[in-house]
Amino acid sequence: MREAGLHALRAELAALLPELADRMDAIRDWRDVHFLSVESSRIPTWHREGLLAIGDAAHVMSPIGGVGINYAIQDAVAAANLLAGPLLAGNLTRAHLAAVQRRRRLPTWFIQTVQALVQRQLVARALRDEPFRLPWPARIAPALPRLRDLPAWLVGWGIRPERVRHVVVDSQ
Ligand SMILES: Cc1cc2nc3c(=O)[nH]c(=O)nc-3n(C[C@H](O)[C@H](O)[C@H](O)COP(=O)(O)OP(=O)(O)OC[C@H]3O[C@@H](n4cnc5c(N)ncnc54)[C@H](O)[C@@H]3O)c2cc1C
Repeated sequence: MREAGLHALRAELAALLPELADRMDAIRDWRDVHFLSVESSRIPTWHREGLLAIGDAAHVMSPIGGVGINYAIQDAVAAANLLAGPLLAGNLTRAHLAAVQRRRRLPTWFIQTVQALVQRQLVARALRDEPFRLPWPARIAPALPRLRDLPAWLVGWGIRPERVRHVVVDSQ
């Protein structure tokens, strides 16, 4: 893109976004153009003594499906449920932090695998202008209400939904 020059970038953007075509002069030089690197990965260990990584700090999410915020919040809920008791009792250990990773590792791996599949099968092909056909479950899903709702359910809740548990605080 840089080799083709700013002029070519402005022309391409104007073709993609005709409603903004009259404002392409606002891109004056390459410093006005920001490259967003997108990653999908997990760190192997989410905890150290006195430290717990959750959300993107533990597993950077691709924007596919718009699930990153859900997973970050679910990690936080799981952490609150698992750690509030030991914190209140003053006996928190690294084993409690490891329990948060154990609980959230599988749902995170699952959704990142789905995102990688969508990236490879749909997004990458669309960006290369290659023809693609939806896989058969996606083609028949609209006709089957239960299957049709599944992707939205998986994005909204994931394979391990989290709910806030109440911690009873002994005021004595
Ligand atoms: C292009 C793109 C689009 C996306 N779209 C969606 C979407 O539509 N829906 C969705 O659910 N997810 C989406 N995601 C993913 C989502 O943004 C993340 O998964 C989510 O924000 C992770 O939340 P978090 O709280 O873990 O981290 P963050 O939201 O990154 O929060 C971390 C915070 O810590 C702050 N911080 C960093 N260092 C320090 C420091 N040293 N001291 C103090 N504060 C610090 C940062 O400023 C930031 O506010 C998208 C991601 C990308 C890249």
